Amino acid sequence: MKFVADGMLGKLARWLRMMGHDITYYAAFSDDELMAIAKKEDRVLLTRDMELFQRCASKGIDVFYVEGANEAARLAELTERFKFPLAINLEVSRCPKCNTQLHSVPKEAVAGKVENKTFAHYNEFWQCPRCGQIYWQGAHWDKIRATLHEAEEILARKSMA
Ligand SMILES: [Zn+2]
Repeated sequence: MKFVADGMLGKLARWLRMMGHDITYYAAFSDDELMAIAKKEDRVLLTRDMELFQRCASKGIDVFYVEGANEAARLAELTERFKFPLAINLEVSRCPKCNTQLHSVPKEAVAGKVENKTFAHYNEFWQCPRCGQIYWQGAHWDKIRATLHEAEEILARKSMA
């Protein structure tokens, strides 16, 4: 999916990139810029701003009003609306920082570029070919999995309601 996110949704933008979606995000975009990008690049505009939502809707721009108070609730809303899997697969992830598709890199390639403990502990690494950031499924992945699980539970509750 291709999205453009408003300035209030930076964290969600990073999540969606990790899930493999193409997200244009820059905190300082004006409403007019957001609308122009959505239209020109055929992206769904994600916003927390009701006024912007209504402006887009009246102009026929594809827009989604994000209601959830936290990332799990927001991810649940988006997967329900756009029917994409609630999962992160680093093989298809985009760099949360710059939106470029990550590449799997051999362990030797990150020697000296990550902390020794990390290097000793993990065998699979991914790197952003644009900004050089290196990723691995480290301790923080427990938090990521917990958020995805919470989003799954929200969806399950909704489907029972
Ligand atoms: Zn990057």
